Amino acid sequence: MAGGPPRIDWDAITEEATQLLSDFIRIDTSNPPGREKAACDWLAAIFRREGIDDIAFYDASDGREHGAERMNMTATLSGDGSKPPLILLNHTDVVPVERQYWDFEPFSGAVTDGVIHGRGAIDMKSMGVMELMAMLIIKRHRLRQTRDIVYMALADEEAGGTWGIEWVERHHPELLDAEYVINEGGWGNAEIFGTRRPSFSCSISEKGPLWLRLVAEGRPGHGSVPHPDNALERLVRALARVQAWARPVTVVPELRGYFDRLYRHNILPEPTQGALETLAADNLIAKAILTNTVSTTTARAGFKHNVIPGVAEATLDCRLLPGQDPDAFIEQVRAIVDDPKVRVETVYVSNTPASPAQTELFGIIEDAVHDHVEEALVLPSVSAGFTDSRVFRQHGITAYGFIPILLEQEEAMTVHGHNERISVENLRLGTQILFETVHRLCS
Ligand SMILES: [Zn+2]
Repeated sequence: MAGGPPRIDWDAITEEATQLLSDFIRIDTSNPPGREKAACDWLAAIFRREGIDDIAFYDASDGREHGAERMNMTATLSGDGSKPPLILLNHTDVVPVERQYWDFEPFSGAVTDGVIHGRGAIDMKSMGVMELMAMLIIKRHRLRQTRDIVYMALADEEAGGTWGIEWVERHHPELLDAEYVINEGGWGNAEIFGTRRPSFSCSISEKGPLWLRLVAEGRPGHGSVPHPDNALERLVRALARVQAWARPVTVVPELRGYFDRLYRHNILPEPTQGALETLAADNLIAKAILTNTVSTTTARAGFKHNVIPGVAEATLDCRLLPGQDPDAFIEQVRAIVDDPKVRVETVYVSNTPASPAQTELFGIIEDAVHDHVEEALVLPSVSAGFTDSRVFRQHGITAYGFIPILLEQEEAMTVHGHNERISVENLRLGTQILFETVHRLCS
């Protein structure tokens, strides 16, 4: 097609996207067990119907987990090869639900009053549909492309990616070939730090998970004769010291642009050390991106009311700022615990380099956002949680976390919570911004 933007019937596209998201939500991919194959089959059928036949399935079950149906897939729309590929990344699994707290059946995909309800409505089946629609529009309008566009639907993100991104990295590293990846990890907020001003986070990095286990050992005994070598009491003292530990507020280089932009637009004061400490002191989001955090998540000890246990364990979910050395942090934890009879064991560790914020893609994202939400800020950010982007960044590929929707705080809180939902208006906005981003980057 020669020159000029394609004429797109966005009402029809929105209606189609709404129906697709509702159908996608109805495929229950709660993880565990995941069973992402059903989602891959459904996606592949849509691509094939539209004439996108370059589809590949990657069965991560490998016969080891019979019937587990852990499946990954790609669908590729070829460009002329003059530029390297763009990957539109999503995960098809969702976190489980506590059905009794939901107002709507979580896997019904109900659409009422302009809202689509269900698990995955935000995280991240809506993005999966926006990515799908972007490819379908490009195909239907025969838009010329410089790059291959690869739709990549992965399994198991919500449980750490063993059967998804990490399996792909081990068995199909050739799939990690792209210049850019667009994935989850950031979205738009209607309000930021108490100011009503739309801002879209585009995450360029994320905090690194460091999962630790504290194991306290002591002398078992009869509960009627207390003694000072009680493993559970040792563990409680260790946990109390960890909780009381004040870790410094640090602005990592990846976040300078974020705080500078908020300052320039009068949302926050000049980001001096003192101002950021004040901010982190009463804002949990700010604290999460300005400090290494520790959450105590499980504890286990004892088996009988009148028996002093010989061992007690707890798990800590630590999240380190980009660039921090996990080994140095573990040494700090040991020093804080300060008890030779409490071992600190590493359960899982990962860290992620940052993607650059000065790229062609970042500029295109900013323009596409401003075309739709003129007054919006676009903020290069660091996400507090970790995503599949980490593996791409480790391979030197620029990966951005950018779901182009604009959420109220109460909507954002439904992610991994109850009554997850997205407005049809947001699905439309996201589909438009994402399509325009992809089209501009690839034409
Ligand atoms: Zn997610």
